Amino acid sequence: MVKICCIGAGYVGGPTMAVIALKCPEIEVAVVDISVSRITAWNTDAHPIYEPGLDEVVKKCRGKNLFFSTDVEKHVSETDIVFVSVKTPTKTQGLGAGKAADLTYWESAAPMIADVSKSNKIVVEKSTVLVKTAEAIEKILNHNSKGIDFQILSNPEFLAEGTEIKDLFNPDRSHSKLAANAFLPQRISSVNAMSALCEATGADVSQVSHAVGKDARIGPKFLNASVGFGGSCFQKDILNLIYICECNGLPEVANYWKQVIKINDYQKTRFVNQIVSLMFNTVSGKKIAILGFALKDTGDTRETPAIDVCKGLLGYKARLSIYDPQVNEEQIQRDLAMNKFDWDHPIHLQPTSPTSIKQVNIPSFIFDGWNVVDEGKLRAIGFIVYPIGKPLDQWLKDMPPLA
Ligand code: NAD
Repeated sequence: MVKICCIGAGYVGGPTMAVIALKCPEIEVAVVDISVSRITAWNTDAHPIYEPGLDEVVKKCRGKNLFFSTDVEKHVSETDIVFVSVKTPTKTQGLGAGKAADLTYWESAAPMIADVSKSNKIVVEKSTVLVKTAEAIEKILNHNSKGIDFQILSNPEFLAEGTEIKDLFNPDRSHSKLAANAFLPQRISSVNAMSALCEATGADVSQVSHAVGKDARIGPKFLNASVGFGGSCFQKDILNLIYICECNGLPEVANYWKQVIKINDYQKTRFVNQIVSLMFNTVSGKKIAILGFALKDTGDTRETPAIDVCKGLLGYKARLSIYDPQVNEEQIQRDLAMNKFDWDHPIHLQPTSPTSIKQVNIPSFIFDGWNVVDEGKLRAIGFIVYPIGKPLDQWLKDMPPLA
């Protein structure tokens, strides 16, 4: 039986290996991680990550040809192919801090693979790493090896959180990772920049997107205005691209990509400022319910725009009630405890169901960061609705600008 092993049981490693195990019952798949809590959770029914369809896939294979373990060395030594799917966050210190990808986890995995290997292996890069990383890893592996042959393959992962299982069943590409992860958010920032202009001129950004998307050269995807992009990859990968441009003497190109992140930050700040402005220039002491906190249809809160929006509102001393069916209170408290703003009042967390919304006070506001609510219905029952990039209620138009 061919054995494969994946180092890193995270958002990429866990689901990817589960789908490989399902599709290839003749292969034994081990997913290993140094995190005891993550592996323990994979071995229960409360998996460490939520993705639609994931639980069913894991349940079908776990214990048959899919195994989760903290015994990293044992499984790596026994395997024919090693996938490396460890995180590559933005560096926080040293050369390239704030931009370059931190390869610490990758670099610690490579010598371990060389040390424990007793037979030839194929090592597959799943993590998002720079071009030429494979060459560097090959040097580390072959320098440490004892006549063992290591072949390094680059196979970046293209799944998107929220649709991971669907994407894994229908993969559509396998190359140019950093460029793709710059172009996608660039489209989001472009449409978000348009949304600000639409609000200023009374136009509707959804009509603009629809019309622009009809141009076959542009296409309709990734053209929905929102409060901004988030997640663990887009910003990190653009920052990495910026760093590569700077290192290669291309400051103009680096500045171009910086703007994609600047517009994203601007959109989040603009959303917070609109809330404050439209609620009579103050949210101090006002109760605001935040429905949805994680990224898309997941429980992943890494770099979710909700964090910045909540921190912004807390900075203005709003009282927040935050609810997301996939995120527990502890996680939300942890995410909001990072000190961007200082506040001295508690965060209230309580379940709220969007379907049970009814008007309680006059005036009551809905600020729709994803343009998903039915504005007409909510206006009909008395809410004042602020959708991104669309014509405002007359009532909102009459409000004075933020002081
Ligand atoms: P993650 O943080 O969810 O998972 C990484 C796991 O690796 C963690 O559980 C960590 O404990 C483990 N780990 C780190 N060092 C280890 C070691 N030496 N031995 C064993 N385990 C170790 O990260 P992720 O979201 O799965 O991302 C992994 C890579 O895939 C990153 O490079 C990311 O950029 C890329 N990627 C992510 C996505 C996404 O949607 N999350 C999509 C495509 C590509």
